[in-house]
Amino acid sequence: MNKLLFTVLGASLFFTCCQSPENKNVKMDILKNNLDTTVAPGEDFFSYGNGGWVKQNPIPADETSWGIGQLVQRELYDRLLHINEAAMKKDEKSGTTKQIGDFWAAGMDTVNIEKQGITPLQAELDKINALQNAKDVMMQAVHMHGYGANVFFDEGVQQDEKNSDAYAYHMQQGGLGMPNRDYYFETDARSVKIREAYPVYVATIFKLMGVDSATAKTKAAAVMALETKLAEKSRKLEDLRDPYKNYNKMAIAKLKTISPNIEWPLYLKEIGVAHVDSVIIGQPEFYKQLDVVLTTENIQVLKDYLAFHLVRTFSPYLSKPYADANFNFYSGLLRGAKEQRPRWKRVLDAEEHAMGEALGQLFVKEYFNEKAKKRYEDIVENIRAAYKERMEKLDWMSSETKQKALHKLAAITKKVGYPDKWKDFSAMKTGRASFATNMMQANMWWNNYYMSKLGKPVDRSEWDMSPQTYNAYYNPSNNEIVLPAGMFTVPGYKDEELDDALVYGYAAASTVGHEITHGFDDEGRQYDEHGNLSNWWTKKDEEEFNKRADVLVKQFNNMVAVDTIHLRGKQSLGENLADLGGLLIGYDAFMKTDCYKKGDKISGMTPAQRFFLGYALSWMIEIRPEQIANQVHSDVHAPAKFRVNGPLPNVPGFYEAFGIKPADKMYLADTARVHLW
Ligand SMILES: [Zn+2]
Repeated sequence: MNKLLFTVLGASLFFTCCQSPENKNVKMDILKNNLDTTVAPGEDFFSYGNGGWVKQNPIPADETSWGIGQLVQRELYDRLLHINEAAMKKDEKSGTTKQIGDFWAAGMDTVNIEKQGITPLQAELDKINALQNAKDVMMQAVHMHGYGANVFFDEGVQQDEKNSDAYAYHMQQGGLGMPNRDYYFETDARSVKIREAYPVYVATIFKLMGVDSATAKTKAAAVMALETKLAEKSRKLEDLRDPYKNYNKMAIAKLKTISPNIEWPLYLKEIGVAHVDSVIIGQPEFYKQLDVVLTTENIQVLKDYLAFHLVRTFSPYLSKPYADANFNFYSGLLRGAKEQRPRWKRVLDAEEHAMGEALGQLFVKEYFNEKAKKRYEDIVENIRAAYKERMEKLDWMSSETKQKALHKLAAITKKVGYPDKWKDFSAMKTGRASFATNMMQANMWWNNYYMSKLGKPVDRSEWDMSPQTYNAYYNPSNNEIVLPAGMFTVPGYKDEELDDALVYGYAAASTVGHEITHGFDDEGRQYDEHGNLSNWWTKKDEEEFNKRADVLVKQFNNMVAVDTIHLRGKQSLGENLADLGGLLIGYDAFMKTDCYKKGDKISGMTPAQRFFLGYALSWMIEIRPEQIANQVHSDVHAPAKFRVNGPLPNVPGFYEAFGIKPADKMYLADTARVHLW
């Protein structure tokens, strides 16, 4: 499902909360311990703050990056492992504990998984094999969407961007086996290598299914050619960030004007679309192209495409040859991992995807602290107050727009820790017979869950992340920030051991301030206080905003991520604005604390220095070059190092804290800095 959420992290990672400065005689100071004093703060602040730790902690072979997020995740994994093993032993007949126990038992039963090979998918493969024409193919394709194999296109139910009180069915570009359209066309050496390896991987899957080597190669080339046609009419990541251009509401009866040969009313009914007579098309040109592909492509190629994507989707849950082929391409080649993660972690990841919130119910019972919840809620309000003051003082924004911005800021809802109302997973079927079947059943449950929302009132109490998630998000349709309990975990430290300076950098700036700023980034600012896509900016204010934001775009475009691959300033603008805003308002809020006012040094560092080092700690991650390249191509978040060194030169407090001078590499003349919030 495509959810329009603006997160702290791309796929995984981090966080914490706050307390008073009590850590003087507790244990080793994490900030001091992580420093690399051979690097000057004004030279490369990321390396100054984190280099000591990075040098002592190389990336493990089964990881594509290693840092603070993984340390937190490791602690979460240990807790979840304990919950799962207990659930499996209980062997209950019904309820959440039974479902978790089943899921865990089936996922860990390698003897059974190896014995079964591809048989959990055989019935579906037989259906694909029997298809006679393009119409059959589309009917099978939408059936496959129901259990999570999203062939040909992407779709899902979410709030209508222009009417947040109603759910709408959204149809998006999709259907590709590589992460996005750029992989089909980019000319840098890494992308070319991946593009050459992809058909080899596709052929490997066909061979595993019993196809001879020469035929497998032919089939793979045809699948690649088909996907390239879809990719040709797919938008770039940066072009997907314009909410107006990606909003095209259309009557279901009129869809034939885009795809004259596809009987959408029939297929949408099959997929579960009911109670609505219109849908929202993200990229009409993609659906025109899909029509062309379906009417011109050879039937056998269409069938091969479906079969490959069915197996690809469920390979991680099948026997070793399939799981290995999937790992070699997606984790090894694309992201640089040297070996597979242990099975138990992979099963936990799959379970998180399938029923994270069910697991979360057990998780918060054992591990979530009410005191932390209160502390964190207070930080949100301090950040909100700091942002309000900053907005009131802006000299470039008219009072008309400013009043609306202030209304929107005051209206932002905060969700902290875990949902008040839990999703009811009782209808999700689980068993101990097959890992892959459990995943299919879980996907079917989610499909029904979303489809059944159509025509019903919007439930604004819902969470789109589980409580144990180490991440957070801003949802523009609800004008809310959602901060799961998992992000309160600080590996190796208790809350009370962390001073406010560290916490305001680490948590208040890099997550709370970041998420709130998303409500006013280049994309989020286009939604009003009720969560509707509606322009509340005057033309002049909009121009000023864009002019100022463009300075940040150019700054990031000039940075090199890896080899000769530059960062993409426009694609990552929303996240970079959120990082910069988070730092500015986080520092403002910090200056109001006793910790800052008293000015006592800890480990020889001033509170201001600890704030910025705390911020750097939140991005203490080393990433393999393959994964950096992958992130630049497929993620709206810049790689970690640039989330520190990118925004900081625009923050006046940073210059004061470390005495940054014009000769320093991180120095920017005031006229070259971003002046937005
Ligand atoms: Zn974000």
